[in-house]
Amino acid sequence: FKGLLRRPDLIQSQGYIGGRWLNALSGKTYTIIDPSLDAPLADVAAMTADDTNVAIEAADEAFQQWRNTTPNHRAAILQKWDRLLRENEADLGLIMSKESGKPIAEAIGEVSYAADYLKFFGHECLRYEGFMIPSHAHGRKMMAIRQPVGVCAMITPWNFPIGMLARKVGPALAAGCTAVVKPAESTPLSALAFAKLGEEAGVPAGVMNIVPSAREAASEIGRTLSVTPTVRKLTFTGSTVVGKILTEQCASTLKKVSMELGGLAPFIVFDDADIPAAVEGLVQAKFRNTGQTCVCPNRVYVQAGSFDEFSKQLVKRVSELKQGVAHQRGFDLGPLINSGAVEKLTAVVEEAIELGAKPLLGATKNPLGPAYMTPTILTNISTNMRVAKEECFGPIVALQKFETEEEVLKAANNTEMGLAAYAFTQDLGRAWRMSEQLEAGMVGLNVGLISAVQAPFGGIKQSGLGREGSIIGMDDYTELKYVCMGGL
Ligand code: ADP
Repeated sequence: FKGLLRRPDLIQSQGYIGGRWLNALSGKTYTIIDPSLDAPLADVAAMTADDTNVAIEAADEAFQQWRNTTPNHRAAILQKWDRLLRENEADLGLIMSKESGKPIAEAIGEVSYAADYLKFFGHECLRYEGFMIPSHAHGRKMMAIRQPVGVCAMITPWNFPIGMLARKVGPALAAGCTAVVKPAESTPLSALAFAKLGEEAGVPAGVMNIVPSAREAASEIGRTLSVTPTVRKLTFTGSTVVGKILTEQCASTLKKVSMELGGLAPFIVFDDADIPAAVEGLVQAKFRNTGQTCVCPNRVYVQAGSFDEFSKQLVKRVSELKQGVAHQRGFDLGPLINSGAVEKLTAVVEEAIELGAKPLLGATKNPLGPAYMTPTILTNISTNMRVAKEECFGPIVALQKFETEEEVLKAANNTEMGLAAYAFTQDLGRAWRMSEQLEAGMVGLNVGLISAVQAPFGGIKQSGLGREGSIIGMDDYTELKYVCMGGL
């Protein structure tokens, strides 16, 4: 698809290590698939732990200079990179849409979201400061200063192939850290195109390294990044299962870890809600990226008095959504990341129906291709169904009825997950109670889209550790050092 790009050179299939575009040391490649067309898209360097070690050395060497650059210098590079992303948003959007199946308009929107992170941290590092401490004794000055942690390992997912990269690389580089990135196996081209523009923006050799790899090598690369002492921090966005493995491995070198893991977001609609707004909020939150985001509502609770009306409006609205080839304009929904994801979710829907769930929409085989999942709405849900207790990464809504606020709060919090939660109500007191009592890192009240670079993103319980973005977004990439000066 090079011919479709204004800048065909943005398609890179080699890894990027120490400022050079390299084949895997083994010489091997692997094939990535366009899920919309169910066709091979590109052959990409299949890097392994050996290549990762070279990248870590490059990042460590580069750190010795990068850490001593001024914030102004780093800000200028991040701001140029931000501009380059925006200038090339159409090409980057197309690359992302082809390899991930994200609808093109959303993919272009994500490029702008990613650029916002570079811009935000390009500004933030200019005013990022430590603090003076009132001394407890005469003749002493006390202060706390911020210093970059060092080489940071980053393992990123396929559902936001550039956004998650920028959310990690932006604050890391702003703070003076260097990075070794392992992008998800399905979406390396987006990460490599992002790096290509970073190179043009003036990111020095070794400051950011990208190690693409096939799924088979994910665990050995993860282990290498976790156990190498020169890597001082590991940041991961992905499933809770993998996040726990990495956290455990990182204990061996006592690294700082940031974990942005799975969710099981409750979406609660009270009888006093603006029902059309709640329907719209659910459609926005649930069907974004065809239902494949970690903040997508996974359990929808509707109060008994509004249940029928809400269901009716939802079915009507969802049946209007258009599904098709992601990189062609005009579709609200694309395929899922691969046909395996469709098989997994189809089994979840079938199990629910066997156990008594009733489909109000969908639950049928999709004629568009093996990676497409038909938008599905189920009712008559019971809590033993997987659809009600497992994260379903796809366009499935499982509607549950509730009677009282107390009951729904208990049900919503009855999980080990705690990333996002949503509630729709016009009652101020109830809105306040929901924001305080829902066990989640992020709460949307009367709104379905909550992510923004200015806001702290992250989860509680087993949904994660640490926060990304916002004015505290650089904290996880720095150490706070206390300095006590005596004899004054
Ligand atoms: P998904 O199943 O949706 O791909 P994962 O959590 O498995 O979610 O994937 C997120 C990222 O984690 C990807 O970059 C993937 O390659 C990587 N990954 C998967 N397994 C491991 C592992 N054992 N160690 C390190 N990284 C892993």
